[in-house]
This record gives sequence, structure tokens and C-alpha cells, in this order.
Amino acid sequence: MDAPQPSETQLARWLARHSRVLVLTGAGLSTASGIPGYRDKDGVRRGRTPIQGPEFRRNEAVRRRYWARSMVGWPTVSRAEPNAGHRAIAELEAGGHVHSVITQNVDGLHQRAGSKRLIELHGNLHHVICLACQARYSRASLQPQLEHDNPDLADLLAQPLPDGDAAIEPDALQDFHAPACAACGGVLMPDVVFFGDNVPAARTAQALAEMEAADALLVVGSSLMVFSGYRFCRMAAASGKPIAAINAGITRADDLLSLKLELPAQEVLPLLVDLLSVPSA
Ligand SMILES: [Zn+2]
Repeated sequence: MDAPQPSETQLARWLARHSRVLVLTGAGLSTASGIPGYRDKDGVRRGRTPIQGPEFRRNEAVRRRYWARSMVGWPTVSRAEPNAGHRAIAELEAGGHVHSVITQNVDGLHQRAGSKRLIELHGNLHHVICLACQARYSRASLQPQLEHDNPDLADLLAQPLPDGDAAIEPDALQDFHAPACAACGGVLMPDVVFFGDNVPAARTAQALAEMEAADALLVVGSSLMVFSGYRFCRMAAASGKPIAAINAGITRADDLLSLKLELPAQEVLPLLVDLLSVPSA
């Protein structure tokens, strides 16, 4: 017989015992919003090889592939709404039970749900930057131009993938027109940290300072297989700060956890709000 799972009540008490809880979230929180997760329950990456940042900057064909997939996947990303888990985290923050949030997600859903003290560690797909002149654009503003320049792709139905990509036939990419900076004609890149790239130093410093100031860490919907997320668990553990997790699967930090609920975040988090009697936003 399996050992009994810790209950939501235990986790609510754990939250109440700490005054500066840092919440670290990952893809598992956004799957209920229709944003597909990077990894399955066993933590293994699924799907294609992701875009590599250095390749993106170096290779025009890689950029065409990215923007073609982004064009087809964008409607799914732009339509995604925060789910009950995102909303509960914002309510817990408003009620003083969560001090700050660091997310590995690039979908912008925490912001939309009302989280205030938030660090988007890997950036935000809703913004695009020119690599030449640093001009910033909203991703939404590029979509009409993309569809106008690439009418053949405009109707394509494809499976959306985590970075706004979608599976596209290589043949369709030869004539694909990638967007360029309206100000200088430079290369445009989404404001996200691709694989093979580092989180900007200032953002890392800010995130580490939040961990430093926290007295406990709650991991939500992340298997922590990427080091930029796992390092916060290492830091917390090194300074004796307790770590809890809500994740429907294994995490790389399982041996560091003092409490773990293997349940979907969007089910557990609203119960915590009720248990802690936080007034609804
Ligand atoms: Zn530019």
C-alpha cells in the first residue's frame, strides 16, 4: 500500500507558518491554460529539439523556422487565460501568504492573473526585441504582418508547442518571410531565454535576492530539470529553508522537499486559498 499523501491542510499550515514564501512556478501550472508542458511526468523532455539561442542569432534558416512556428502557434498562446492556479497564487500574495513569485514560464499568465511581485526568469513571449537597436515590440503587433507576408501558412493547423512553436513542414520554410525591425531592419527575437542562452545577469541577481530574502520555497508545476530553476532549491536547502512542492510527477529536488503534493496545481492552490480564508480578489 502506498504511503498516504500529505494533505492540502498540511500545506496550508506550512504556508501559514512562514511569512516570506517564495513561489517558483513552471510549465505544469500553465498546462491547464492550454499551454503544453515541456516535460512528461517522468521529467523527460518530449517533442522536438527546442530552438537554441546561439543558433537563432547565427542562422537565418533557424530564425525562419522559429517565426513560422511562432506564427502558427501564436493564436493559442495569445488566447490562453490564467487558470485557477494562477489566480490563487495572486490571491495568496494579496492575502500576505505569498511574498513573491519567480516563474520559468514565458506565457505572461501570472501578470494577467494579478501577481505583483513577479520575476519572469525566462522572459515573456508577448514581447519582441530588435537585436540591432534594442527596439521593443509587442508580439501581438507583429502577427498581422506575419500573416500578410506568409499567406500560405496563415491557414495551417498545427500542434502548438511550449515556446509558441508549432510543427511545420520544412518545405513551407524556404519562402517564409521572417519579421524585421520596423526602425532599423534588424533581426527580431522574442524576449525569452532560449536553450543555450543564459538568464540576463541583472534578472538572475534579482531572483537570487528574492530567494535570499525568503524564509521558505514553494515549487509549483515544475520538475526542476532546468538548472536555472533547480538552483533555487539548492540555495534554499543550503541555508536550511524548507521547500514544499505541488507537482504531478517527480522533481529533481524530491530528496530536498519537506512536503510534496503530487496533484495538479490548479486543483490544490484554490483549496489553499479557502483554507487560509483569503478574501477573493
Ligand atoms: Zn532595430
